[in-house]
Amino acid sequence: MAFVRALAIIFSLLLVAAAAGFWWWRAQSASPQAAVPFDPAFHRLTPEEIVTLPLATRFDMPLGSQHGALTYNARPFRIARHLGDDLNGIGGQNSDLGDPVFAAGAGRVVYTGMPGSGWGKMIILAHRLPLGDEAGPVVQTMYAHLDQILVKHGQMIQRGEKIATVGTAEGAYLAHLHFEVRQGPYINPAEGYADTPLNRLSPETFLSARRGAGAADLGPAPRFKE
Ligand SMILES: [Zn+2]
Repeated sequence: MAFVRALAIIFSLLLVAAAAGFWWWRAQSASPQAAVPFDPAFHRLTPEEIVTLPLATRFDMPLGSQHGALTYNARPFRIARHLGDDLNGIGGQNSDLGDPVFAAGAGRVVYTGMPGSGWGKMIILAHRLPLGDEAGPVVQTMYAHLDQILVKHGQMIQRGEKIATVGTAEGAYLAHLHFEVRQGPYINPAEGYADTPLNRLSPETFLSARRGAGAADLGPAPRFKE
């Protein structure tokens, strides 16, 4: 009988250990920190999401004044396969580290995060363009290498609102803002260099065609939430 009782005790202990192990495994796999690979197939704006995007009737520069005064473009669109503009404060080096990054137009936050491959922190805004705009109906503006992200996924954003600060992509570069304008409803951090422009437009050309401030205006971008 002692043998049977010992067996029963050992069996119960094994059961408890198995249950604890299973509970631990479930808790681990349900953890929100679990790395989820980015799948662009699940990041396409639906027609309903598109019609509820804020209408962007006007765009301004995301750095410096509304015209980008006090900034320069260190690597313009399509130079050395670049898919955006690299905007810097005129002080050069890291003098623009922590400078405010403004939303180029009214829109909604459709991506925030660190997608990897040298991007650092990134924000993507989606904008609905007025009917008849040749770049429409939807464009995205993308802001990368950020130091701080000040907005949340899904948030509605006004043009000129401070959404982030200029960073170094976690020390990968001297501080600057990598800025892109993209067409269409597919949300994907993707790559910053390619042989063809893909769905990217020249940010400078796009903004200057849709700019609201008069040519002589050197004032700062509007800061709705400072
Ligand atoms: Zn860049």
